[in-house]
Amino acid sequence: MVYYKNDEEIELLRLSNQLVSKTHAEIAKHIKPGVKTIKLDQIAEEYIRDHGGIPGFLNYNGFPNSLCISLNEQVVHGIPSSLELKDGDIVSIDCGVYMNGYHGDSAYTFSIGEVDNKVKKLLKVTMECLYLGIEKAIVGNRIGDISYAIQQHAENNGFSVVREMVGHGVGRNLHEKPEVPNYGRRGKGLKMKPGLVIAIEPMINLGTKTIVQGNDGWTIKTKDGLPSAHFEHSIAIKKDGPDILSTFKYIEEVLNI
Ligand code: MG
Ligand code: MG
Repeated sequence: MVYYKNDEEIELLRLSNQLVSKTHAEIAKHIKPGVKTIKLDQIAEEYIRDHGGIPGFLNYNGFPNSLCISLNEQVVHGIPSSLELKDGDIVSIDCGVYMNGYHGDSAYTFSIGEVDNKVKKLLKVTMECLYLGIEKAIVGNRIGDISYAIQQHAENNGFSVVREMVGHGVGRNLHEKPEVPNYGRRGKGLKMKPGLVIAIEPMINLGTKTIVQGNDGWTIKTKDGLPSAHFEHSIAIKKDGPDILSTFKYIEEVLNI
């Protein structure tokens, strides 16, 4: 079933998402060559707890850490480890916070040093996909309108859309109905009403859309080993348009972009 949120609940969701966004900015300060991804996880967990939240992903279905950290060909659900970031890598960091009974969920893909031009374009287009999808998240539109906008923009730029992993409703539970695929047809799916809160999260690949699961039982990777990007915002659908509850502005302040 789909849970619609009232204004009070949406404000609580905003608080959780703002802490996610500030945690991302804290991590951004430490993104550089030589940093172990487990270090980023420790920074995030400490920051979240210091600010009154609980890491939303920790122990979720048995996930062992606070962040999903997915490097290069890893699409999502990468496990933090002693692996070090290096120049030319991209790293997708998905962060969740549980606070006041509500989940925040947002993801950002960072570049480390100078990355390949094709990969730069992948990051730019994936972020554009996110915002094009959000533009379609308006009352009276259907979920398929979001999906279609994302897929068109990704494929028009020569990239591919992961099928198996999708966006979702979010609220008291990290994953609620409806699913929000990053591919699909206009005019299909749930009709959006005020109070619907969803996480829109394009996962876009440079090469094939086909994914495989790593030996750790979590990490999702591209089959061809080419890079994948992931950007995610949680948004509330309101009468006057989409209200983006998470933000990248704190990250951008740190990165000076
Ligand atoms: Mg997420
Ligand atoms: Mg999500």
